[in-house]
Amino acid sequence: MPSSRKCVLPGCDHVQNRSVSLFKFPKNDHIKKRWINFVKSHLDGQLRITTKTRLYSDHFTRVSFINFRRRQLGFTDNPLLLVNGAEPTISRLGLHPPVDHQ
Ligand SMILES: [Zn+2]
Repeated sequence: MPSSRKCVLPGCDHVQNRSVSLFKFPKNDHIKKRWINFVKSHLDGQLRITTKTRLYSDHFTRVSFINFRRRQLGFTDNPLLLVNGAEPTISRLGLHPPVDHQ
């Protein structure tokens, strides 16, 4: 099985499946730079962004997703979608974001 779709963060070995999403880096340079800075703070050495570079959905807070709630409630099986300008902030690998504030 090809495993090219994998999170870029070191030590994070999530691969894409039905319950998680991996996101391509954004086209917008300003936002892209923030993603790169996030990854670089966890990476020794060079970061090369390619068309295969992905970030796992767990590195984003719930408010970063357009359809997190609908998925949580089982209204949709569509993959998670990021809001415009969302940036990754969560680096605690293996930990899910805390229970969300109502
Ligand atoms: Zn990851």
